[in-house]
Amino acid sequence: MTETIQAPEAVKLIHHWIGGKPYEGQSGRSGPVFNPATGAQTGSVDFASVEEVDAAVAAARDSFPEWRAMSLGRRAELFFSIRELLNAHREDLARLLVAEHGKVFSDAMGEVARGLEVVEYSCGIPTLLKGGFSEQASTGIDVYSIRQPVGPVAGITPFNFPAMVPMWMWAPALACGNTFVLKPSEKDPSASILTAELLKEAGVPDGVFNVIHGDKVAVDAVLAHPDLKAVSFVGSTPIARYVYENGTKAGKRVQALGGAKNHMIVLPDADIEMAADAAVSAGYGSAGERCMAVSMVVAVGGVGDELVSAIKERLPKVKVGDGFDPGSEMGPLVTREHRDKVAAAIEKGAEQGATVVADGRETAPEGDGFFLGVTLLDDVTTEMDCYKDEIFGPVLGVTRVATYDEALRLVNENPYGNGTAIFTRDGGVARQFQFDVQAGMVGINVPIPVPVAYYSFGGWKASLFGDNHAYGPESINFYTRGKVVTSRWPDPATSKVDLGFPQTR
Ligand code: NAD
Repeated sequence: MTETIQAPEAVKLIHHWIGGKPYEGQSGRSGPVFNPATGAQTGSVDFASVEEVDAAVAAARDSFPEWRAMSLGRRAELFFSIRELLNAHREDLARLLVAEHGKVFSDAMGEVARGLEVVEYSCGIPTLLKGGFSEQASTGIDVYSIRQPVGPVAGITPFNFPAMVPMWMWAPALACGNTFVLKPSEKDPSASILTAELLKEAGVPDGVFNVIHGDKVAVDAVLAHPDLKAVSFVGSTPIARYVYENGTKAGKRVQALGGAKNHMIVLPDADIEMAADAAVSAGYGSAGERCMAVSMVVAVGGVGDELVSAIKERLPKVKVGDGFDPGSEMGPLVTREHRDKVAAAIEKGAEQGATVVADGRETAPEGDGFFLGVTLLDDVTTEMDCYKDEIFGPVLGVTRVATYDEALRLVNENPYGNGTAIFTRDGGVARQFQFDVQAGMVGINVPIPVPVAYYSFGGWKASLFGDNHAYGPESINFYTRGKVVTSRWPDPATSKVDLGFPQTR
């Protein structure tokens, strides 16, 4: 992380946030933050050392007893204040996302809105934490269950949703009574710091929410730290596996959400115009840098030609440009390296025999921004790298198969199992697909089936390590431990004090 494009004094310095205030990094290590639309370095973010991670965890540990003891009513009230402040600052958050991630402003506003839904869900924490009660389970004995926070916990998040994915984690974790250490992506760290400032302003006590920036050094320190009881991770599959293996080895509970290769199946009876619209928005939205992006369209039966031409017809309307330009529909890729990697995947697809219907390398806007235009590859086969790899860019592949069964097999044999969708007018087939398919999130004529906040988000296979999905009811499970109390009181009739109870009942 040594690349610097502008002189250091021109850039914003982004520090950690520990114990309720900014904490200037002492490690001497930092990384550059870019505006992907211009290619200019706009920031420099501190990278935490092991000692700095220790300081953040100590703040979380010291604030835990008081935070967990706060009444549910007060915590819910605080969450309503958090919601109000985040809502009032949603444009500020969105602007930071555009500036450091590159997504277009409307998309950034959508990201904040979806994250806020998880905060709103967390406002219901008194109801969400209700236990069960069995009166007279045995004579004179009552049994009841309660859920208690696990302690200080950590979240490690990816670059592609710098506000929303942290909200998936810190909102339910804090609502359940845990304290939190966030290690956001070093590529777009500013939204986390604004979040920390807003949480403080809302009245969250110092130390309850901390942010440490950095790379593998910080992640390894989080995974090994004995005072952190749980880790939530969202990112690529190799790192998700690494986090899961090392976190659990250190005795923590871990949920680690990984990468994806989402297939959208289009059956011959589908509404082709609807399917083409869906493929374009789900394939190229946020420049394809979404774990729920559609990356493969599976055209079944004879639908391929009509579908490919309907998609192709729509491509010139996807205006690529700076995310701050209201006319832009798709922004740049997050870094120059990532843009070049995606461009190389297009080249390799062509070399390996895919038909290049549209080549985004030829339509990228001029300048130093990390842009690519939209790419459509037809006749993709399962042997090609562009089929096997998660490209994570504005590249949509089309593969053609003869039957529903073949399409289903493609999805089920894929190592990933995040999201999938089927386009059809046949309810019976759609229902069969929902029964058969091996993926965690299924869309029926819906290309990006991200669950609403009161369901949980998660994939299967190499898209999730661990058992609990993110946010929703499963997050309440993840961030709490169950306790069952079996209770008996002496018979009041035997009391030495005359309470007026009858001697026999
Ligand atoms: P990434 O795996 O490179 O980084 C994720 C986090 O891990 C970051 O905080 C990063 O600093 C850290 N990290 C990176 N390399 C590390 C290493 N060697 N050791 C320890 N920590 C390391 O992912 P990314 O590029 O930021 O995000 C894109 C990926 O995230 C894609 O694969 C995408 O599918 C996935 N993603 C998945 C979901 C989901 O819900 N399943 C959601 C969003 C993104």
